[in-house]
Amino acid sequence: MEHQDSDVCVVGAGISGLSVAAFLGELKPSWRVLVLERSERSGGAIDSFAGGGYLAEWGPHGFLDNCAESRDLIRLAGLEGERVTAPLGEFVRYVCLGGRLQVIPQKPLRILRQPLIPWQAKLRVLADLWRPPLAGEPTVAEWVAHRFGPALLPFADAVYTGTYAGDIERLRIDAVMPGLRELERRHGSVIRGVFHRLRTARAANRGEKRRLPAMTSFAGGMGALPARLAAELEARGALHCANGVGAIGPEAGGWRVTAERGVYS
Ligand SMILES: Cc1cc2nc3c(=O)[nH]c(=O)nc-3n(C[C@H](O)[C@H](O)[C@H](O)COP(=O)(O)OP(=O)(O)OC[C@H]3O[C@@H](n4cnc5c(N)ncnc54)[C@H](O)[C@@H]3O)c2cc1C
Repeated sequence: MEHQDSDVCVVGAGISGLSVAAFLGELKPSWRVLVLERSERSGGAIDSFAGGGYLAEWGPHGFLDNCAESRDLIRLAGLEGERVTAPLGEFVRYVCLGGRLQVIPQKPLRILRQPLIPWQAKLRVLADLWRPPLAGEPTVAEWVAHRFGPALLPFADAVYTGTYAGDIERLRIDAVMPGLRELERRHGSVIRGVFHRLRTARAANRGEKRRLPAMTSFAGGMGALPARLAAELEARGALHCANGVGAIGPEAGGWRVTAERGVYS
C-alpha cells in the first residue's frame, strides 16, 4: 500500500474532477493536487470513438461556449486551436410526437408559433406569468408541468435526454438548470425573467443583438478535453487511475482517503 500526502485530493477523474485539478493548478500552483480515479481511464461520461470513417461520442457531444469557465478550461487544456463550433441558431432538432418526426425550432417564440401543441396549451404556457415558484426541489417534470403545463413535457424530455441522457421524472430542476430556477425566484416568472435579462443585455450591448451561443467540441471529439487535462496531471504523477476510493474520514490536521492502492492524507 502506498502512502502519499497532498494538499487536495480529488476523487474521480471525470470532467468535474479534472476541471477542479486544472483550475487549482492555475490558481494555487504551489498546492499538491492528487486525483484518484476508480476506472482504468479518465474522462468519466466523456468518451469519443472513431471507426468506419466516423467520429462519435458515447456521452456528451458538446457544450455551449457561453460560460467563461468553459472557455478558461479550453485554454488550460491548450485546445483553443482545435475547437469545432456549431452555432445554436443553425441547429436542427427533431422530436418524435405521435409517431412522427417534428422539427423543433431553436427559439422559444418560434416553438409557440408552430402547430406542435393545441392553442389551449399555448395559452397555458402564459400561466408562468402568475404561477407561484414551486417550493423544495421539484423534479424537472413537476417544475415544467407547474410553470408551463403538461403539454410541454415531451419537449422538456427531449431537451434533457439530449443533454443529460437523464430522466425528467428524476432529475431535479435546481441541479440541472439553476439559472431558470433563479429567474423564477427573482422575477416570479421565467418569461418575465427572460425578458428582463434580454432587456438588460441589450442595454449593456447598446442595442446590438447578442449572438446565440455555439455548441462546442474538438477536432478529436469531446474526449480530447479530458485526455489533454489528464495527460498534464499524469506527467506530474498527479493522476492515479484504477485506484478507486473506498473511504474518506477525518484525521488530525486533515483527511484520510483510503483507496484500492493506498492511503492518502
Ligand atoms: C449519454 C450522455 C450524453 C450527454 N450529453 C451531454 C451534452 O451533450 N452536453 C453536456 O454538457 N453534458 C452532457 N451530458 C452530461 C455530462 O456528460 C456530465 O454532466 C458530465 O460528463 C459529468 O461529469 P462528472 O465528472 O461530474 O461525472 P462523471 O463523468 O460521471 O465522472 C465521475 C468519475 O468519478 C469516478 N468515480 C466514481 N466513484 C469513484 C470512487 N469511489 N473513487 C474514484 N473514482 C470514482 C468515475 O469512475 C468517473 O470517472 C451527457 C451525459 C451522458 C451520459
